Amino acid sequence: MTEVSVAEEDVAATGDLVVLKSVNKHFGALHVLQDIDLTIARGEVVVVIGPSGSGKSTLCRAINRLETIDDGSIAIDGKPLPHEGKELARLRADVGMVFQSFNLFAHKTVLENVTLGQVKVRKKDKKAAEERARALLDRVGVGAQAEKYPAQLSGGQQQRVAIARALAMEPKVMLFDEPTSALDPEMINEVLEVMQQLARDGMTMIVVTHEMGFARSAANRVVFMADGRIVEEATPDQFFSNPRSDRAKDFLSKIL
Ligand code: ADP
Ligand code: MG
Repeated sequence: MTEVSVAEEDVAATGDLVVLKSVNKHFGALHVLQDIDLTIARGEVVVVIGPSGSGKSTLCRAINRLETIDDGSIAIDGKPLPHEGKELARLRADVGMVFQSFNLFAHKTVLENVTLGQVKVRKKDKKAAEERARALLDRVGVGAQAEKYPAQLSGGQQQRVAIARALAMEPKVMLFDEPTSALDPEMINEVLEVMQQLARDGMTMIVVTHEMGFARSAANRVVFMADGRIVEEATPDQFFSNPRSDRAKDFLSKIL
């Protein structure tokens, strides 16, 4: 039996949306992801926390295939991540990603930022794409900024545009890699509120964040990483009140 059919059977049986099995990744001598097994169910919100350098961003980038992995497998909705080509572009669009830096296209308007991928990757006609873009911009509270360029917006507004742009692709899962870390404090909540709403609407989400309030209120599960490994997985209640590992206790004592 091929690896492909194994992955498809697993997903059909469980309804899991993201399945990582024994994923390993090195950067030279650095073993940055070590035997990562992680399964995320449809509609689940998983918050990933851990010290700087523990591999959280690399994990997100691997799930979106911005990084290759050395061995193991990653499947999205039953489909193993392909290596390249059109299929990769489509699968990547199934995984919406929002980064710490608001990497919008600087020379496109807000509306164009949210329209472009729909036309190029999802093959929508321009009018339908613009309609969807405007609806999404309204939903994240920046509808009035549609004709502006990213530099004319605040960081919080840009990050909400980035969320709208990812949602425009109709992703099956959304990845957030420290989406509020680069924001001025007064803008953090407006972004977290959009994410909270998304979670309530049933979006499957993987969120790397140090915002423990968000983790407590939105997460179904907390995954704690250290040194390239998943050290601990628990509900937010269990994790924050009674972390099992010394690494997690140490980490929490520093941030709480
Ligand atoms: P985190 O997001 O948890 O802070 P990262 O996934 O960014 O961790 O990084 C994990 C480790 O991998 C760090 O030691 C980092 O320096 C290293 N690293 C990340 N990206 C690269 C790269 N492209 N080349 C070499 N080392 C990298
Ligand atoms: Mg990181």
